[in-house]
Amino acid sequence: MAAVEPLGAGVAEPEDRGGAFPRLTDAQRAKLRAAGRVREVVAGETLFREGDPDYDFFCVESGFVAIVQGYGQENQVIAVHGPGRFLGELNLLTGAPPLLTAVVRDAGSVIQLPVAKLTELVSRHEDLSNLILRALLARRAILIERGAGIRLVGSRFSRDAQRLREFLRRNRMPYQWLDLEEDEEAEQMLATLAIAADETPVVVAAGGVLRNPTNAELAALLGLGARGAPPTLCDLVIVGGGPAGLAAAVYGASEGLDTQLIDKLAFGGQASTSARIENYLGFPTGISGSELAERATFQARRFGARLVVPAQASGLAYRDGHFAIELADGQAVNGRTVIVATGALYRKLDVPGFERFEMGGIYYAATQAEGMVCAGDPVVVVGGGNSAGQAAMFLSQRASQTRLVIRGDDLAKSMSRYLINEIEAQPRIEVLTNTEIVELDGEDSLQAVTVANTRSGERRELDCKALFVFIGAAPHTDWLRGHVAMDEHGFLLTGRDVTAESLSGERPLFLETSQLGIFAVGDVHSGSVKRVASAVGEGSMAVQLVHQRLAAL
Ligand SMILES: Cc1cc2nc3c(=O)[nH]c(=O)nc-3n(C[C@H](O)[C@H](O)[C@H](O)COP(=O)(O)OP(=O)(O)OC[C@H]3O[C@@H](n4cnc5c(N)ncnc54)[C@H](O)[C@@H]3O)c2cc1C
Repeated sequence: MAAVEPLGAGVAEPEDRGGAFPRLTDAQRAKLRAAGRVREVVAGETLFREGDPDYDFFCVESGFVAIVQGYGQENQVIAVHGPGRFLGELNLLTGAPPLLTAVVRDAGSVIQLPVAKLTELVSRHEDLSNLILRALLARRAILIERGAGIRLVGSRFSRDAQRLREFLRRNRMPYQWLDLEEDEEAEQMLATLAIAADETPVVVAAGGVLRNPTNAELAALLGLGARGAPPTLCDLVIVGGGPAGLAAAVYGASEGLDTQLIDKLAFGGQASTSARIENYLGFPTGISGSELAERATFQARRFGARLVVPAQASGLAYRDGHFAIELADGQAVNGRTVIVATGALYRKLDVPGFERFEMGGIYYAATQAEGMVCAGDPVVVVGGGNSAGQAAMFLSQRASQTRLVIRGDDLAKSMSRYLINEIEAQPRIEVLTNTEIVELDGEDSLQAVTVANTRSGERRELDCKALFVFIGAAPHTDWLRGHVAMDEHGFLLTGRDVTAESLSGERPLFLETSQLGIFAVGDVHSGSVKRVASAVGEGSMAVQLVHQRLAAL
């Protein structure tokens, strides 16, 4: 009988791209050995499987381990790791189940230790901590790029498929998208699973098949969100998990407050949709918004903050001396104090057919995912602020032609000088001043936009497969109407900006709203600077004020 080839036979180890696959030194492995145990492993043995609720950290001492997608079915080998390399990706630290399966290819030995022991170990050894965290973050980015992990089958024209893709993308979960309109594999998979096309979108994972799941159902499958039963009452509830909310969670939890953070979609907020944040202190070469979000989320969890996603605040009540944040699913989260960090929503263009093309060709963010979609195509970016400028710079590396459209006559009125310099030095970007978009064209998806010069009225049709819109924002504050004072646009007034007539007694503290005990930070607060650094600064500052308010209660 012919011998069965082991999974990953002949596959070479991947290069250590961006710190994703470092080889631990003898000294580093000795630290792991002291905290865990060394054991022999045989070919074909699985160290952990996709979807396992609990699994350990492994470092290969000798032999080789294959990392496999769809183990037992398509058996696709993603990578092979040998001596000195460790296994796992970001889920190891978030407590979510593994996305892939680890199968021993060549017998040898491994160091095995529970994740709790690893966390304890790395908190004492900075070299290991930096190396492992960096690798796990880089591996997540690689898996997203490869489209590994769960499979989502659906039509690109389905709103629910768009919703699920958005949820996965914003939560930085790797997934393989199988488009019913395009991929034969999609039909084959549906046939194998005996699922009719009208039951799509479906999510296929080791943990089961979900037919058109809600975001909450998908989150549960992926192991996103908090563990354990919710507390009855917290010192601090933070609503909104962008940079402001995450900073408040890190400082609140690290300063001993019983802290709960909820977000309706994903942690990281708008910042996580930024391809590269170059003006955040301490990152001289910039940091991608998603990496900043991943690091901050990990940090908040490490300090003991309870992070819940998806959980949308839809109302507020004051009961028995505390605030009850009412959630869209009918539940409530209770806190003695509240920090509102719900940010703002980007505005849409008032052009006929805009909503139709939101299904195919209009974007509010320019990240890796959008960059892949429009690679080699002409794109247009609308807006004169820093986010538009960054998007144009990022897209110019991928698109065949990038045009930046602004209504004003000069970028300098609204954009940072460093970005203007970069744009001016980039020949693949054309800046169209005194210009607005007046028409969108295309059948199923966007093909062209017509622009008009606001002074001469001259019109010009531009080839455009993707339109990126960055033209201002409206705050997420409807759920607070009637409870706290707002400015004419709905942004929350705080501190000295709260007018005397909206107060019943004591004046609010700095960053405190007209309702004492409720604070507002980041983009949601009136007059905010709309920068990551200021959102983070306010989130941390508000925690000091929460301490003051709690002491006065
Ligand atoms: C593409 C892009 C690029 C950018 N680049 C930069 C940059 O380079 N440098 C810079 O300084 N700034 C940049 N910004 C701006 C920066 O991202 C924002 O100023 C910052 O994210 C604001 O943080 P925040 O926490 O106040 O709000 P957000 O980041 O908007 O987060 C708000 C969070 O609240 C959640 N939420 C909303 N409503 C509810 C509700 N009812 N219940 C529960 N949760 C809710 C949302 O899901 C979201 O996660 C950029 C923005 C974008 C979009």
